[in-house]
Amino acid sequence: MSELRIEGLEAGVQGRTILAGIDLIVRSGEVHAIMGPNGSGKSTLSHVLMGKPGYRVTAGKVTLDGVDLIRLSPWERAQAGLFLAMQYPIEVPGVALVDVLEAAAVAKGRPADEVRNRVEAEAERIGFNPALLTRSLNVDLSGGEKKRNETLQLAVLEPKIAVLDELDSGLDVDALRACARRIERATQEFGLGVLAITHYRRLLTELRPDVVHVLVAGRIVASGGPELADELERTGYAAYRSEADQVGEGADRAKADQRTDPFADPFA
Ligand code: ADP
Ligand code: MG
Repeated sequence: MSELRIEGLEAGVQGRTILAGIDLIVRSGEVHAIMGPNGSGKSTLSHVLMGKPGYRVTAGKVTLDGVDLIRLSPWERAQAGLFLAMQYPIEVPGVALVDVLEAAAVAKGRPADEVRNRVEAEAERIGFNPALLTRSLNVDLSGGEKKRNETLQLAVLEPKIAVLDELDSGLDVDALRACARRIERATQEFGLGVLAITHYRRLLTELRPDVVHVLVAGRIVASGGPELADELERTGYAAYRSEADQVGEGADRAKADQRTDPFADPFA
């Protein structure tokens, strides 16, 4: 049984506080969804968890099975069992997916040929064109192929905890279903714990969450069962924004963001 434990996490970028105190525990086999409006800090949370350079943790703690992640580099966090499916997967010219996965798995003591077989089997499971396995990582791939690619990496590497940053963005319905189903199966097959960041409920129909959290202005302002996602789909975040208005600095920023939002209602 693994456990990702986030306690009082405050973090920011370029001197700005973006996460204003996050508490969250994700255990093996659990699926937690994080929903929230644009700019609430969802991607920042995923970046801070994985250790993207440029983000500063100013308070709090993140541990995976007792290991302090904040002090580790991203590859060390990956070896500790954390995985990030990126909102915008990066293109790596000249490096093939199959070589990346083989290197990662061998570094963890798995035999290379076992990994190759597994890559092919997983590609077939999620409908990822095997011809793409030996091409440059993500280069010239469609949005759907990139997300299938992220899912394939997750399935082969078998992390303890996966953070999915908008796995559903840029995906058609078929690819979404294939990816979400594969990840849902992983929660049973190897006890994967999932932190699924999303705007939309549709990801959660396949990837059935145990808990749904609402992130507004860098804080979790509500948590509940799957019905919370249905409610948000109907009513939006309006009810939670007013709660965030009372939580200090983060709220001031949310208001400032609204003012600079080109799509904001000028009469609001
Ligand atoms: P979400 O994923 O919930 O839409 P983000 O975590 O991407 O939100 O962004 C939260 C806030 O932090 C936004 O106001 C965004 O402009 C700001 N932000 C994120 N990354 C940076 C950065 N590298 N430099 C400056 N501001 C940033
Ligand atoms: Mg985001």
